[in-house]
Amino acid sequence: CGIVGVLGKHEAAPILVEALKRLEYRGYDSAGIATVNGGKLGRRRAVGKLVNLSDLLVHDPLPGKSGIGHTRWATHGAPSVSNAHPHQAGPVAVVHNGIVENYRELRTELAENGIDFQTETDTETVALMTEFYMKSGLSPVEAAFKTIDRLQGAFALAFLFDGEDDLIVAARKGSPLAIGHGDGEMFVGSDAIALAPLTDRITYLEEGDRAVVTRTSVEIRNEAGEIANREIRKIQLDQ
Ligand code: GLU
Repeated sequence: CGIVGVLGKHEAAPILVEALKRLEYRGYDSAGIATVNGGKLGRRRAVGKLVNLSDLLVHDPLPGKSGIGHTRWATHGAPSVSNAHPHQAGPVAVVHNGIVENYRELRTELAENGIDFQTETDTETVALMTEFYMKSGLSPVEAAFKTIDRLQGAFALAFLFDGEDDLIVAARKGSPLAIGHGDGEMFVGSDAIALAPLTDRITYLEEGDRAVVTRTSVEIRNEAGEIANREIRKIQLDQ
């Protein structure tokens, strides 16, 4: 299971699939990507090997230079296209590794607000809760942060938003996540290996960190919401 993200200069889909291939060693049962193109969120998902996702993208391309991707190792909900990530709720798409331990409680709260669920996954709750907070008037970043604050368990998360082609929100608690610094491009990955062909300048998020990523900036806050300075390391990897 793995997470990747790109705010780039080139088409995101092939970059995302290639980065996901480099995370295949972790194992997975399904995969998917989402992009923002002309301000609009779109996604493609497939069960099984990444080649199934690649084939789908040949027949049904997903343009856009900003995107997130995921390989899933199902913990809640069977491996299926509808349970595969990214999960989308209105203007937000989310990829998630790990487990949201309190998802039942959050589901109940959302259901009480008249919100319906399409899947059995813990992850869909994250997307729906973020959408709910956006509807209440919060900005995408505020809504994502407020949702992250509500989550218990182990997770790495990346959020992509409709109408925002220069924004990824990323968070880490219990599952590793790294930011890759490019030249006018920025990347997100479960580890430096995923990002190796793209950049060797890596910032590892620390426990509880959340990052607001654009093509030219990364703002990291700790769990208390304070700005955190995390170093950029030059990583040497044997290819
Ligand atoms: N708990 C999530 C799910 O089952 C994420 C699993 C993963 O880490 O890939 O969809």
